[in-house]
Amino acid sequence: MNGKRVIGVDLGGTKILAGIVDREGRVEQRREHPTPAESQEALLDGLDVAVEELLDDDVVALGFGIPSPIDQRSGRALQAVNIRLGDDIDFRTRMAERFKLPVGIENDANAAAYAEFRFGAARAVDSMVMLTLGTGCGGGAVIDGKLFRGWAEFGHMVIVHDGLPCQGTCTGRGHLEAYVTGVAATKLAQKEFGPAVDAHRLVRLAAEREPRALEILDGIGRHLGSGIGSLVNIFNPELVVIGGGFAAAGDFVLDPAREILRREALAKAGYRVPIVRAELGTAAGLIGAGLVAFDAVG
Ligand SMILES: [Zn+2]
Repeated sequence: MNGKRVIGVDLGGTKILAGIVDREGRVEQRREHPTPAESQEALLDGLDVAVEELLDDDVVALGFGIPSPIDQRSGRALQAVNIRLGDDIDFRTRMAERFKLPVGIENDANAAAYAEFRFGAARAVDSMVMLTLGTGCGGGAVIDGKLFRGWAEFGHMVIVHDGLPCQGTCTGRGHLEAYVTGVAATKLAQKEFGPAVDAHRLVRLAAEREPRALEILDGIGRHLGSGIGSLVNIFNPELVVIGGGFAAAGDFVLDPAREILRREALAKAGYRVPIVRAELGTAAGLIGAGLVAFDAVG
């Protein structure tokens, strides 16, 4: 099939972003709806409405970015925390039967990584790893031009044995996510400066050269560097991309991460693998969902 347009849906904990996506990554008719939180039925209804209002004869497939590890074999979301989608439903088949179209599903952070690879910060390379630092820590990898379809839950890599407890329903300890997100930064900032100071204010304080703020961000960056070092040693990417809201901390976090990467990565990869910021912002998830839809067409 040589379809030109698909519908991409970025399903988030608070909002559903949907739009028509073409093969060049352009988004038309971007729409936003609140995510129904009452029940799974309400959520599915909300997604149906979001798709229906964009659907026309030119649309050849649907793609969904979902905040959960995905089982591609069974088409299910395995451990969705922020949305009412259980692992009792084959979501991919449900959507394919409802709309009579090919459907691709993918973890939302994987989808965002795919978009940065094709149209954003990593468009000039063949292999990349991305970490998204927001309230949680997600990730994705593209290897030899292909999206890695495993879980790629890089935020749940253990970087400190018996370390800090992880977030949400994760029972793990010492996972990267407990150290490098905006939530982690806010916790550290409030301990140092009091309840009024969040991650954004912390970054502003660092910009004013406040020494304790610089120290906190440096510590976060070093933990991030440990995680990136492991990812580089596993995937040997050409580029590491950092996205999500907390990427706004920029070089206050990325410089110490680069320093640790030089120490941890094999074969001096830390000297040749750049760590850069994502370019597509909040559109990455939607565009990536569109790419996943095109992949479903084959
Ligand atoms: Zn975890």
